[in-house]
Amino acid sequence: MRILICTDMEGISGVCIWDQTRDQTTAHYQEARRLLMADIAAAVDGCRAGGADDVVASDGHGGGFNFVPELMHPGARYLTGRQRTSMTQREAFFRAVDGVILLGYHAMAETPDGILRHTQSSLGGNRYWYNDRECGEIAQSALVYGHFGIPVVMLTGDTAACREAREFLGEAIVTVPVKEGYSAQFGLLMAPKDAHDRIREGAQQAMGRIRECRPFTMELPIRGRLRVGDKSIADARRTTRSRRVDDCTFETVFEIPLEIYSF
Ligand SMILES: [Zn+2]
Repeated sequence: MRILICTDMEGISGVCIWDQTRDQTTAHYQEARRLLMADIAAAVDGCRAGGADDVVASDGHGGGFNFVPELMHPGARYLTGRQRTSMTQREAFFRAVDGVILLGYHAMAETPDGILRHTQSSLGGNRYWYNDRECGEIAQSALVYGHFGIPVVMLTGDTAACREAREFLGEAIVTVPVKEGYSAQFGLLMAPKDAHDRIREGAQQAMGRIRECRPFTMELPIRGRLRVGDKSIADARRTTRSRRVDDCTFETVFEIPLEIYSF
């Protein structure tokens, strides 16, 4: 059984301010990387205890080079680096994945109680709608894995991210809240070690839910709409595939879910 642990940083236990996730030169970011590795370790342990014999962690935050190799938990391989190839080029790998864990995810832009809430761009104020339903990164990830027939079986993040995951993906998914947001950069956090216990237990439980979780799909083609934070951002966008419909909004149509990141 192959499990893919897709990681982001904003929803990792102990992470709650932008300084931990944006600028890779800060001490805060270096600390956040270690927190990320510890959440991954707990998830890997849980997956293996639940019967997964092939666990792969994928480095997904920002440019995609956040992992600390010497802290990668034994028993996991990992995807990381720069100049990522397209998912289509890696199709054979994805076809062998039985379930996906979204680890350290965050709520969509504008979610009042979402710690480090945003969708794709934490500075640009982007918001995305697919078939008129606003979607954040949880639904976006679920949609592309759903294209390969892979269900999301578990998510960790704050309570807002967990709620968003259940709204989009249903009640069968295991959600592990590791913090509760009061504002974008302030909330009630639990000791990372306590979070690790919950993540480990959640991952083990999720291995038994794979058949209950359905791959996330949307009616095709998908009508996509992107709204950026202000007109100057829209003016600076170079896009060939979408049509600008007002100062800040672009629209296009996606034939398959894999195209959504090319907006
Ligand atoms: Zn991120």
